[in-house]
Amino acid sequence: MTMLHTGGCQCGAVRYRAEGEIGFPHVCHCRMCQKAAGNYFMPLGGVMHDNFTLTRGEPTWFQSSDTARRGFCGRCGTPLFYDGGSDHISITLGSLDEPESVKPALQTNLARKMPWFGDLHSLDHDGSFDMSPEDEAAIDASSRQHPDRDTDLWPMEKGN
Ligand SMILES: [Zn+2]
Ligand SMILES: [Zn+2]
Repeated sequence: MTMLHTGGCQCGAVRYRAEGEIGFPHVCHCRMCQKAAGNYFMPLGGVMHDNFTLTRGEPTWFQSSDTARRGFCGRCGTPLFYDGGSDHISITLGSLDEPESVKPALQTNLARKMPWFGDLHSLDHDGSFDMSPEDEAAIDASSRQHPDRDTDLWPMEKGN
């Protein structure tokens, strides 16, 4: 059985397909990943180049050091790829169409991990700030976020 994963950016201008198992699924806490994600960590997993296909558009690349470049959507800004020049490309696991399908197995670069990271899970939850069904319907009615599946045609491709 061939495992197939698809994913892409928020606006849908860049889409990709990954065949086979996604290797070394992990969350990286290094400062470069924090900045590149605008987040406290970056979730990454590796795909061999032969198993990786861009199915729509091209990412914009930022050469974050001499040893690695990071790919993102130049239109909507979603972080998508980490290319360390090896036999594989890493994809951001949150950009998968089914992000729950790949569970991180490791974490790396704990030196920069937020000291309160473990507290996130037990933060207070105020349900009154959650989106109501009406809120969600209003967002859906004008959402320009690409659906979590491949599409034949997507208006964002034309640049609006
Ligand atoms: Zn995009
Ligand atoms: Zn990192």
